[in-house]
Order: sequence, then C-alpha cells, then structure tokens
Amino acid sequence: MTDGKIVVPAQAAIGQVDAQGPMIDPFGRAVTYLRVSVTDRCDFRCVYCMAEDMTFLPKREVLSLEELDRLCTAFIEKGVRKLRLTGGEPLVRKNIMGLIRSLGRHLDSGALEELTLTTNGSQLSRYAQELYDCGVRRINVSIDTLDPQKFKAVTRWGDLGKVMDGIRAATAAGLQIKINMVALKDVNEHEIVTMLKWCHEHGHDLTLIETMPLGEIDGDRTDQYLPLSTVRARLADEFTLTDIPYKTGGPARYVTIEETGGRLGFITPMTHNFCESCNRVRVTCTGQLYMCLGQEDMSDLRAPLRASEGNDLLNAAIDEAIGRKPKGHDFVIDRNRNQPAVSRHMSVTGG
Ligand code: SAM
Ligand code: SF4
Repeated sequence: MTDGKIVVPAQAAIGQVDAQGPMIDPFGRAVTYLRVSVTDRCDFRCVYCMAEDMTFLPKREVLSLEELDRLCTAFIEKGVRKLRLTGGEPLVRKNIMGLIRSLGRHLDSGALEELTLTTNGSQLSRYAQELYDCGVRRINVSIDTLDPQKFKAVTRWGDLGKVMDGIRAATAAGLQIKINMVALKDVNEHEIVTMLKWCHEHGHDLTLIETMPLGEIDGDRTDQYLPLSTVRARLADEFTLTDIPYKTGGPARYVTIEETGGRLGFITPMTHNFCESCNRVRVTCTGQLYMCLGQEDMSDLRAPLRASEGNDLLNAAIDEAIGRKPKGHDFVIDRNRNQPAVSRHMSVTGG
C-alpha cells in the first residue's frame, strides 16, 4: 500500500476479471454473495456482541488491505456479485477507503453488482461522500435505540448524536440507508414502533434481527433473547403487515407496513431456519472462510494467499471449501448450557 492506494497485482489489473464460472455448493445453491470482515476491532462494545475488555487479534494475523483486495477479487472472478464489508467496525480500519476505492473497479467493469457495508455509523460523517464516490449506493447502519442514554448503555462506548450526524451526511451524499436493529428483551422491545415510524418517515427500511448465540459476552443471552415471532404478532395488532417477495440478497424476509408505506425486514435465525436459499459465505479478517455463520467448519485462505503471488492455490482452497458448504445451521439458546452455540464472536465473522 502506498499513499493510501492499493497496488493491484498485474493479473488483477483494473477492470479485468478472469471469470471462472459460478461456485455451486453440494445443495445446488450458487454462492454469489460474500461478506468480508475487514477488522475485528471496533469503537463500540455492544452488550450482545462483545465483552467490554475484548482482546483483539495481533496485527500480523490480520490480512493486509492488499491481501483483502486479492481475496475479494478472487471471489468476484468466481461469480460473487455482491460484496459486503463488515467487521468489527469496517470504518475504523486504517486506510479502509483505499480498499473500497480499489474494489470499486469491479463495479465499473460490471463484474460486481453491489459493493456495500454494514457499519455502526460512528465514522459516517467523515466518509459518506467518499463512499458514494467509490460506487457504494446502499449501506446498513446498526442502531438499536433512538434514546441517547439507552444507546450508550447498549453500545457501552457509542454516541447516538454522532451516528445521527453520520446518517444525515450519508443521506445528503445520496446513500440509501437500511437500519439494523437487534431486538433485545426488556431493553428495546417497546421501542420497535418508535423506530419503525422514525425509519419510514426518513425513507429508511428497517430490519429487525434476533440475537444469535455467537461468542462469549459478559451477560446471559437467555435474558436478551426476544423471538421475532412475538414482535411480529404485537406489530400486527397496530399495523397492517403484508408479506412481500422483496429480496436484498440477504436472509431477511420483508413485509410492507400499510400505515407508514415503508418496508420492514425480519432476520430470524432462531425461530425460522433461513438456510434453504443461502447464497453467501463469509471471510474473517484473518482469511478464514466460513461456509455457514452458524457452524464451526471453516477453511483457512490466508495460507494459500500468502504462499504465492499467483491465485492457483487460493482458487483451489476456495473450490474445496465451497464443496463442503453445509445445508444449514442449528442455533439454540439453551438456558441449561448457557454456552454460545458458536464460540466466535459476530465481530469476527461479521454480521
Ligand atoms: N460494527 C458494524 C455494525 O455494528 O453494524 C458491523 C459489524 S456487526 C457484528 C454487524 C451486525 O451484527 C450489527 O447489526 C449487529 O447489531 C449484529 N450483531 C452483533 N452481534 C450479534 C448477535 N450476537 N446476534 C445478532 N446480531 C448481532
Ligand atoms: Fe462493534 Fe458492531 Fe459489535 Fe457493536 S455490533 S460491538 S458496533 S462490531
């Protein structure tokens, strides 16, 4: 990396993608969506995501921006059409805009349909315009409450005012924003209607997410878990919900709300198994490829990436891993065990 610019190897020169055909898993699903965690670090410490005294990875274990570029490009050559950068907090990674600008070449060439990110919004005021200039058109921003004190309590280190400034900047830059809200029992369950109305008044879709048992946290997850089936039933008392086939490439199922005219998505890994149409895989910031968010099986892509400058070893490792993509996951929040179903944190695999 020089002056914040990524030096792209000759074989992946601007606009050139050496198409290799789609990645098809053993269940006939084409893998077209890649989520990449660009860092495990974050400037928040959300209670359901991390312990307050998280230990982060040593820098040498984390892929460099050049390595991330090579990796993403290899997946795009293999048919990935949608790329989401996540984390940790993607916008706290040093020189992240260099990577985003560089990946934008795949939008220009038409190889990639969408380049997007999931962010906590803390750095958006700074980066919104640049993101738009790099070809990003839609982003997901995670906000669990519109109450500043509660926001501080949930994120531990977050400042709602800054996030709201970021949302205004992103809107002004022309970015479409979807709000992600994790539904937490007793914490924000009675604010869902307020959030829904606020989102739809401001032209944002809202997606509700069930807490997933990923990684050790300080508290007890069974106290946080709120099934979205309950939320939906409550909303149906007040609003007219109509199921729609709208898809964004992710696992959310959408309804329209007649009274507000907006869209509401539900991500329900716990109450509804959404695996049958799964088109995505995830790569951690250390280059581990997870074929399923809810399973421990993974393939190390960092070793083949670092073993040679060419992509033969990398491509072979990806193909082998896709051949092992499981049919689905099996999450349970179990009061007796009180252990996470999957030991790695969401901030490692990315949301
Ligand atoms: N830092 C960014 C953010 O918060 O948007 C990106 C990474 S974060 C891990 C991605 C999404 O995962 C966020 O919407 C967050 O609320 C969600 N998340 C984190 N831990 C979760 C858990 N245990 N269960 C469900 N969602 C979780
Ligand atoms: Fe950071 Fe996102 Fe996890 Fe919150 S959910 S601690 S913002 S990575």
